Amino acid sequence: MTETVFARPFSPELPVQRLDAVFPVRRVYCVGRNYAAHAVEMGHDPDREAPFFFQKNPDNLVLPGDDFPYPPLSEDVHHEIECYVALSSGGRDIPVSAALECVYGYGIAVDFTRRDLQQIAKDKGRPWEMGKAFEHSAPASAITRASVIGHPAAAEIWLDRNGARVQTGNLDQMIWKVPEIIAELSRYVALAAGDIILTGTPSGVGPVQRGDRLVGHIEGIADLSFSVI
Ligand code: MN
Repeated sequence: MTETVFARPFSPELPVQRLDAVFPVRRVYCVGRNYAAHAVEMGHDPDREAPFFFQKNPDNLVLPGDDFPYPPLSEDVHHEIECYVALSSGGRDIPVSAALECVYGYGIAVDFTRRDLQQIAKDKGRPWEMGKAFEHSAPASAITRASVIGHPAAAEIWLDRNGARVQTGNLDQMIWKVPEIIAELSRYVALAAGDIILTGTPSGVGPVQRGDRLVGHIEGIADLSFSVI
């Protein structure tokens, strides 16, 4: 192997349920406002504004078993519980009818958001990265293979904070369904094996504090639990 001038950067690999192999992550995409109830709680009209995309950095992922360190420069860090899709192939201009062929599996993740920084960015028309793509901003579960569970179009998704249910929804409430997300995103960028896409959060987003215990679940797909430290 060629020598590097410093140690190779951390390159995240997600575990795969019931498989002795890991999933190397290439890119992390996110869908904004993909559940009507969440769009409304954030002050938007889901009938007039389509969902959209943004990105986090792959090394922002927190692997299963690790905790979430409260980030600097924010007093208002919000949880957003989301189903993610993991791709084992990709391409450009993928038709909706072929999109599920790219899906390796599914998992659950939290799209942590420095809401105060995001709001400043929105107000000033600036990019969202400093509100979204910070260290440890995406705790993620292991991947459950589509070859095991298929492609669930409906499943309850929820998040408990310190034992109290704060977010609830169902995957069937997504405005863009998974095949539409993949098809639409592939019009903008070339998708590839190793990409994961967080598919948006249901309503009930809110702040976390150090010491909180968060437990997320998607019926029949995945579990995630960690502490805010
Ligand atoms: Mn989100």
